[in-house]
Amino acid sequence: VTTADTPLLLAPTWIAPVAPANGVLTDHAIVIRGSRIEALAPLSVARNNYPGSSELALPGHLITPGLINLHTHAAMSLLRGVGDDLPLTRWLEEKIWPAEARLAGADFVADGALLAAHEMLRGGVTTFNDMYFFPEATASAARTLGIRAALGIIVIGFPTAYASSAGEYLRKGLELRDACAGDPLLSFCLAPHAPYTVDDDTLRRVAVLADELDLPVHIHIHETAGEIDRSLSQHGVRPLARLDRAGLVTPHLIGVHAVHLDDDEIGLLASRGAAVAHCPHSNLKLASGIAPIARLLDAGVTVGIGTDGSASNNRLDLLAEARTATLLAKGASGRADIWPAAAVLRSLTLDAARALGLDRCIGSIEPGKQADLVAFDLDASELQPVFDPLTQLIYSAGREHVAEVWVDGQHVVKIRQLGSTDAARTLREVVARIPVWQNRVVSA
Ligand SMILES: [Zn+2]
Repeated sequence: VTTADTPLLLAPTWIAPVAPANGVLTDHAIVIRGSRIEALAPLSVARNNYPGSSELALPGHLITPGLINLHTHAAMSLLRGVGDDLPLTRWLEEKIWPAEARLAGADFVADGALLAAHEMLRGGVTTFNDMYFFPEATASAARTLGIRAALGIIVIGFPTAYASSAGEYLRKGLELRDACAGDPLLSFCLAPHAPYTVDDDTLRRVAVLADELDLPVHIHIHETAGEIDRSLSQHGVRPLARLDRAGLVTPHLIGVHAVHLDDDEIGLLASRGAAVAHCPHSNLKLASGIAPIARLLDAGVTVGIGTDGSASNNRLDLLAEARTATLLAKGASGRADIWPAAAVLRSLTLDAARALGLDRCIGSIEPGKQADLVAFDLDASELQPVFDPLTQLIYSAGREHVAEVWVDGQHVVKIRQLGSTDAARTLREVVARIPVWQNRVVSA
């Protein structure tokens, strides 16, 4: 008989705990009780200490902490394939913003976010950092599928169906945060869209709120060269300098993209303890450029990895994103040893957790943390032989090798399928509605 209190003992071939040591353990077990990791111990010790536990043997599997997608717009899954092959400004102004103005309501966000949450969970993502309108609909999609979400308290300098002024955006987001207090899966970031869509007064207000409420600030920065040129002509300074004037370059900052940075800006981010969410596929697809990751890492800036939304990637495949990220960093810097596999795994987990202010709860396999875990099946013939499971994970494996996923101790993906019948039914209902959304995108 198993109950919620019966410990579950996971016995894979390899465990990569990320912390306190970022290596690989063999002949070890993870003990989960309720929502938490109770122990990480040699298998024989775990069996001895937890005699009544149920045991799941996972031969040929590597268990890592759940992956954290440090930047996405989950609801945009319904816009996958809209405006392909356009540069950022035309993509936003001609395709995405008009489509969002016509379509984006709570129903659109709920369905898009559910599709995205499913795609991410199946790809080993257990937490996503989101920025979109109607975050309450994204919250309910996350709860339905049992994925962890850091929801953006979005602010953008033009009216939408969601809110009509900076004050209203902030008020709605903060009310949602109050309403979700105590939800184990949900946390919040302030999410001013970008320096070029948010005015100085609002940026200063966001900085005050971040300080008062101890919230991360999730914002696109220095994505394109044009953004910097326009800031210089309109404000006389580069966007990061504007953010700094507003008091936003602090340990709370998660600067998304950060493609175009000079050495002083890299030094500023490092000295203030700010983090960068690197989104290489989006930067490549929109021809925004290649972020200076080797220089950021050398300077000691915390770098996490994000997929961005489905309309600019077009996959929410964080493992593929990580492979591209490290290959690009090596190729662009001429240094094959930059961002080795173990460090990439730390970027995908503990470093991203730290950027979100969640590193006391998630990001590593340590007793007392929440049980957010992924088991990758490295037994597939295309992954043989396994000399080093970490390099195999980053350079060879794909999201198709994600076999099992736990979030907050819940077994949400079992043998590559959703573990909850309710979640699976809701997903089928959303999939059945996709043609309706597709028609509305095309005819709008
Ligand atoms: Zn984005």
